[in-house]
Amino acid sequence: MTLEIRNLHAIIKATDQEILSGINLTIPDGEVHAIMGPNGTGKSTLAQTIMGYPAYQVTAGSIKFDGHDVLQQSVDQRAKLGLFLGMQYPAEISGVNNADFLRAAMHATAPNNQISVLKFMQQLENNMNYLEMDAEIAERYLNVGFSGGEKKRNEILQMMMLQPKLAILDEIDSGLDIDALKVVSKGINHLRSKKFSALLITHYERLLEYVVPDVVHIMVAGKIVKSGGPQLAQQLEQSGYHQFEVAKELN
Ligand code: ADP
Ligand code: MG
Ligand code: MG
Repeated sequence: MTLEIRNLHAIIKATDQEILSGINLTIPDGEVHAIMGPNGTGKSTLAQTIMGYPAYQVTAGSIKFDGHDVLQQSVDQRAKLGLFLGMQYPAEISGVNNADFLRAAMHATAPNNQISVLKFMQQLENNMNYLEMDAEIAERYLNVGFSGGEKKRNEILQMMMLQPKLAILDEIDSGLDIDALKVVSKGINHLRSKKFSALLITHYERLLEYVVPDVVHIMVAGKIVKSGGPQLAQQLEQSGYHQFEVAKELN
């Protein structure tokens, strides 16, 4: 299930401002790719545009997943195709119990693959243990009053329960201490297989020491300006983004 993004341009509907200015990105089956880039460069916009969130409008280009024209699909249909987004700022939803939300999401994304309540509870407990999450988190309102680290673990829990084909994880590492980072990384690595791919969006090389990507892309001002192996992230840690900003101005 390859994700293929070609010449993608997108604007923010509210301001008409172009944020994505010709993104080209191919993520083959089974690969983990990372996108790094300075703040405000459009990383979250890319993530949310792939998922179909309504604040953004695609003005040119294409997104294909497993041959499907993703841009013709609703957010729900994209989730059914196996796309998943772990949000940079997970929403707090009062009145919605975390476990109920997960069960509903599983049902919505895989209606033909329903499991019993008992089996669901067992899977939930196993995954929560694996992520070293407090059992009471399952019964609390979705993300309400969760710490930053609990919210991020909860995004990984959702991913482990939903078993998407392609997970986009937007700054899943931000605000995590080293122990939480290791746990979150363990969750991602647990899913790695020939049938799972991931796009990790991060500012920091640290996450990529625990989840070693196949390819690292550098994004500056709405474009991917360089791609390479994991060593690119280490290089960046030392030299920063400035070199790429200069290179872009010359183009
Ligand atoms: P990154 O994730 O790389 O930090 P974002 O995609 O969040 O960057 O943002 C890119 C630019 O688009 C920023 O200038 C940001 O302020 C703007 N932006 C993103 N989403 C919205 C929105 N919903 N409304 C207005 N401006 C937005
Ligand atoms: Mg940002
Ligand atoms: Mg962002």
